[in-house]
Amino acid sequence: MSKIMIIGAGGVGGVVTHKCAQLPEVFSEIILASRTEAKCKAIAEQLGGKIRTAQVDADNVPELVALLKKEQPELVINVALPYQDLTIMDACLEAGVDYMDTANYEPLETAKFEYSWQWAYQDKFEKAGLTALLGSGFDPGATNVFTAYLAKHYFDEIHELDIIDVNGGDHGYPFATNFNPEINIREVTAECRHWEEGEFITTPAMSKKASFTCPDGVGTYNIYRMYHEELESLSKHFPTLKRAQFWMSFSDNYLKHLEVLGNVGMTGIEPIEYNGQQIVPIQLLARLLPDPASLGPRTKGKTCIGCVVRGIKDGKEKIVYLYNIKDHQDCYKEVQSQAISYTTGVPAMIGAKMILEGKWKKPGVWNIEQFDPDPFLDDMNKYGLPWQVIELDDFNLDP
Ligand code: NDP
Repeated sequence: MSKIMIIGAGGVGGVVTHKCAQLPEVFSEIILASRTEAKCKAIAEQLGGKIRTAQVDADNVPELVALLKKEQPELVINVALPYQDLTIMDACLEAGVDYMDTANYEPLETAKFEYSWQWAYQDKFEKAGLTALLGSGFDPGATNVFTAYLAKHYFDEIHELDIIDVNGGDHGYPFATNFNPEINIREVTAECRHWEEGEFITTPAMSKKASFTCPDGVGTYNIYRMYHEELESLSKHFPTLKRAQFWMSFSDNYLKHLEVLGNVGMTGIEPIEYNGQQIVPIQLLARLLPDPASLGPRTKGKTCIGCVVRGIKDGKEKIVYLYNIKDHQDCYKEVQSQAISYTTGVPAMIGAKMILEGKWKKPGVWNIEQFDPDPFLDDMNKYGLPWQVIELDDFNLDP
């Protein structure tokens, strides 16, 4: 029986709150706090008032500390934006509260996608006797746990990892992003990096394309190699990996819009002056695009996200694929959200449950693959994200 505070009332925040509220035996009291309290109240209303809400600016450490000291939750689930990770970690340290998130800290002015800033908190959390769990969404999150599970149960040594994120959903808009547009566009326009023979190799964004056929009739999609933050922690924690790559599906239409927006400067993250005001182009663009939280009723189709691992077992080479398929409309029926927020929010709820149940409670700052994957994957099966494992005879994404 534990009290938690969820920070951030966007697409993911809505799902985590719904999923935690479904388990009162674990999450006995829930406070949803965000910059705009009206969004928290709207979610509370969907839940028939089962949770409480609060207003907080998570960039402001003293304000956050005051709220945490007043409410005294056991754990903060941070599903605000990656810019707030460090201020929320600071506030948790000061108020003596465990911490978890779903995305690594990002400085506003550079698109970095790296863990260095948060890993630097290791000593502070350890000394304070507090747990910080990083990246408990789907990717990062479930994909890291999939990798750890395959390494534990299927291989003596893992050598190659391909994380493949296919969204076969269609929301009917000419252009929209499935999660926070600013973070999404920063991610897909960043240079690609993949892990190969002990170092990260940089290639231009979207320069490597392949075709991937999802299992169970989900379809065949164009996927593009890109950098994703879990490659950094997975290549560190699984040093036998000779190669690790991340792939995501994009429609031709999405890429066409992105190219035009990039060409005219609308995806820039440097402020420009307009009419005496400093404007960050990508932030203006994010304001113009549909709110990801509003895509739920419109999105049809399925997501298919998983990991293909090649390695050695008993002296023989093996290839194993572990994946989850989720239907957008099923998610909407359950928690009034599309599958991208759902597939992030459910692992966030499960990560929190692991900490509160003591299974993953350990002072320090941890990436999710550093804990035992088994109880987490059991809960994915129980709480809406069932997964499958298949052995493949062959696998090759090189054209
Ligand atoms: P949204 O933009 O929909 O929601 C973000 C929420 O955070 C909004 O409610 C926003 O408030 C709030 N917020 C922003 N700044 C502050 C602040 N200073 N203080 C308090 N609240 C603030 O984003 P998503 O729900 O799509 O994404 C949430 C997080 O999940 C992001 O970090 C994203 O990167 C991560 N994510 C992770 C994935 C994974 O698989 N690991 C996949 C998808 C997302 P307001 O309403 O006022 O704008």
